Amino acid sequence: MKLEIDQQRLLSELETLATFSDAEPPAVTRIVFTPTDLKARAWLIARCEEAGLAVRQDAIGNIFARWSGADKAAPAVGTGSHIDAIPNAGKYDGVVGVLGGLEAIRALRRSGFRPKNSIELLVFATEEPTRFSIGCLGSRLLSGTDRDGESVDEVRRKAGLNGNLQDVKLAKGYYKAFLELHIEQGPLLERAQISLGIVTSIAAPASLHISIEGAGGHAGGVLMPDRRDALCAAAELILAIENAARSSAAADTVATVGECDVFPGAVNSIPSRVRMTLDIRDTDQARRDGVMKAIERTSQRISSKRKVSIQWELVNADAPADCAAEVRAALADSCRADGFPFLEMVSRAYHDSLFISRIAPMGMLFIPCRSGYSHRPDEYAAPEDIARGALVLAESLAKLSA
Ligand SMILES: [Zn+2]
Repeated sequence: MKLEIDQQRLLSELETLATFSDAEPPAVTRIVFTPTDLKARAWLIARCEEAGLAVRQDAIGNIFARWSGADKAAPAVGTGSHIDAIPNAGKYDGVVGVLGGLEAIRALRRSGFRPKNSIELLVFATEEPTRFSIGCLGSRLLSGTDRDGESVDEVRRKAGLNGNLQDVKLAKGYYKAFLELHIEQGPLLERAQISLGIVTSIAAPASLHISIEGAGGHAGGVLMPDRRDALCAAAELILAIENAARSSAAADTVATVGECDVFPGAVNSIPSRVRMTLDIRDTDQARRDGVMKAIERTSQRISSKRKVSIQWELVNADAPADCAAEVRAALADSCRADGFPFLEMVSRAYHDSLFISRIAPMGMLFIPCRSGYSHRPDEYAAPEDIARGALVLAESLAKLSA
């Protein structure tokens, strides 16, 4: 079997898809179910049909494009990613995995390969949290792990998607394996000058809202022994959070306070209230939970010492996922057969594949992106890296579906 990726065509499709955008080029803005996104989806469906794939959409707008295998009853081998883009993003995030996956399937068809298991391209709906404040909604529903929201229901119906959201969930065993090709969104591959990364596990975030109530007052009138300054308590807590992550047993633990609102926010007024967010991630759930517990204990100490109240609200806590040994092996064998060096690495960002791992053995293949930049207009992946990723993806799909 001789597999050839049509690099020219793949790149021109990447450029075309980038023109479906609500931002000035090179920026790309493509919020799910906007008129622009609906045009992009229609264009993509036409490309899948042109490639001879049978296309269906589910009630949340996940697109499935299937190449039926010899054994139609056997579970499919899936690949795919997303095409929605946050405001002022780039051309490659998600799109490389969708168009790279499509080209991988076309290359397999051109080669004369006949799969035993069906091969399916899956385009996840609403990966980015821009519209519904929660990421990976499509894959959460596929894996049966999320509540549905009324706002979601209204918006998707306006986009022509009816049907029951309960029916979106895929049966366990629907996929024999699932692979996602994606840009790294970090600098490690570029730094190592290695053009392929095989993901070992996907880190997952827990996010929390923290609110601190102290007592306000005049910046001149209230003397220091009488103060219950909410911002001073917040400062102490933020450093404790940093320290807890730094002193974790593994470098995979990261914690970030990215938002901090101070009330009333006046130069001559003691802060009476602070609201802040905490994002804490790890590849190991027990370790992440342990660090959260340690932070909570410190926060109780700060609260009693400074006589402020500190409230925690857990917004979301997803479990991290390990990539499946058989999928990693298929990727590694393909790289070795081609003589491509690869790096084994953790995915620090999370992806639809995190949720698919709950219903199928999952793996991810990374390609470098310049300076590790992503979610910005100057996001860039080199043509040869994109083509190489699509080739290894095609070879791995062949191995898993033979
Ligand atoms: Zn992505």
